[in-house]
Amino acid sequence: MASISKPTFVAQKPPLCPVCGKPSYSLGGVHPQCAVSRADKVRKASQPPPKPKPAAASGQWKKTCPRCHRQVAARRYTCECGHTFGPSPGR
Ligand SMILES: [Zn+2]
Ligand SMILES: [Zn+2]
Repeated sequence: MASISKPTFVAQKPPLCPVCGKPSYSLGGVHPQCAVSRADKVRKASQPPPKPKPAAASGQWKKTCPRCHRQVAARRYTCECGHTFGPSPGR
């Protein structure tokens, strides 16, 4: 009669990844790549695709050249296309 009480080893089951359904040992129970893909899906589902911002709102340190529509640093007075920015009115 073996009265040796085996220590009941409860195998800790890893949490199943909610994305792919496979056990994951990663932090949070989600595979990093699955978390990325899920976040990407959520992001795509919840947010509309990014619209191209108007030139006026795209960066306050950049200005758009009216001639070649290139983003030029706001401190620059001339564009690479040769356009010269006049003194900005106001402010
Ligand atoms: Zn996964
Ligand atoms: Zn230009």
